[in-house]
Amino acid sequence: MTATHSTRMLILGSGPAGLSAAIYGARAGLAPIVVQGVQPGGQLTTTTDVENYPGFREVIQGPWLMEEMQAQAEHVGAQMMYDMIVDVDLTQRPFRLTGDSGTIYVCDTLVIATGAQAKWLGLDSEEAMKGKGASACATCDGFFYRGKKVAVIGGGNTAVEEALYLTNHSHDVTLIHRRDTLRAEKILQERLFANPKITVLWNKEVVEFVGGGDPEGLVALKLKDSVTGDLSQIDVEGGFVAIGHHPATELFRGHLELDEDSYITVETGTTRTSVPGVFACGDVMDKVYRQAITAAGTGCMAALDAERFLAEADFEAVAQAAE
Ligand SMILES: Cc1cc2nc3c(=O)[nH]c(=O)nc-3n(C[C@H](O)[C@H](O)[C@H](O)COP(=O)(O)OP(=O)(O)OC[C@H]3O[C@@H](n4cnc5c(N)ncnc54)[C@H](O)[C@@H]3O)c2cc1C
Repeated sequence: MTATHSTRMLILGSGPAGLSAAIYGARAGLAPIVVQGVQPGGQLTTTTDVENYPGFREVIQGPWLMEEMQAQAEHVGAQMMYDMIVDVDLTQRPFRLTGDSGTIYVCDTLVIATGAQAKWLGLDSEEAMKGKGASACATCDGFFYRGKKVAVIGGGNTAVEEALYLTNHSHDVTLIHRRDTLRAEKILQERLFANPKITVLWNKEVVEFVGGGDPEGLVALKLKDSVTGDLSQIDVEGGFVAIGHHPATELFRGHLELDEDSYITVETGTTRTSVPGVFACGDVMDKVYRQAITAAGTGCMAALDAERFLAEADFEAVAQAAE
């Protein structure tokens, strides 16, 4: 028999956004259900050192932080489900969602916190060097490369912003782009070309992340010229891949308004989506900051927005019944 769970607040995703929404939702008495998806704890479970989440003087571990967040959410009354949503019906309230397990979730409000995964080049050597020099987030990891030579791979706004950001820590930043022009906005390009700490390598593709040393870390990137095919090498200790992100929104296409990059559109200053009663928080609606703390912040906002939405809906229902 198909199991059905009904709740005032259903939360999709168990990263910092989803779990923060769960903590606030539970403390508002909404007994939220969190559907955790295939990555319980979200992206921070894939990293080690986290040094910028407030409240901890010493470096903490990403997986530990997420375990604590989940324990806190459960402690105040949120329920975790090990399932992944595969179908949504947002045409009427209560909304109806279907899990991979076949379980049906019926909810008065829906908080979407499904995140956005960084795109990688897809090289085996890149995979092997993740956490040892290969990164997809300069804001997260740039600080660990103080005084070291680093490279950024990409040619859009994010790549240029990451290169500029890294000059706060490194005097030698190389931007590697596989074409001979950048896609980034003109103003960003002007700042890039004016920065003496940044060198641009045109028409170069990264073909290998080279490890070395003990403990092993990135020591170089092997490059292939996209015009001549010539191979070369650049010595760097940090290689930042900045070629975009995939927001996890395929499920909502045609059901909710998405922007040109497939992020969920929200009303400015809120987490309200194009469907009343559906709220979005964290990286799935934020292509600018993409940090654990901003995800947690908007998770809190989503729960408060949902709680207010329910209070208004309940009030209207009582008023209508009294007419
Ligand atoms: C390697 C690495 C290191 C990082 N380091 C830092 C750092 O030091 N400091 C920092 O502030 N930020 C860091 N970040 C960024 C930070 O992890 C993200 O900004 C943050 O995790 C975003 O939180 P989120 O809750 O929006 O989404 P995520 O953490 O991406 O969580 C998304 C959740 O949605 C779930 N999900 C997806 N689809 C479905 C579905 N269909 N049904 C149900 N659930 C679903 C997933 O299982 C997951 O639980 C790092 C990121 C990476 C990848």
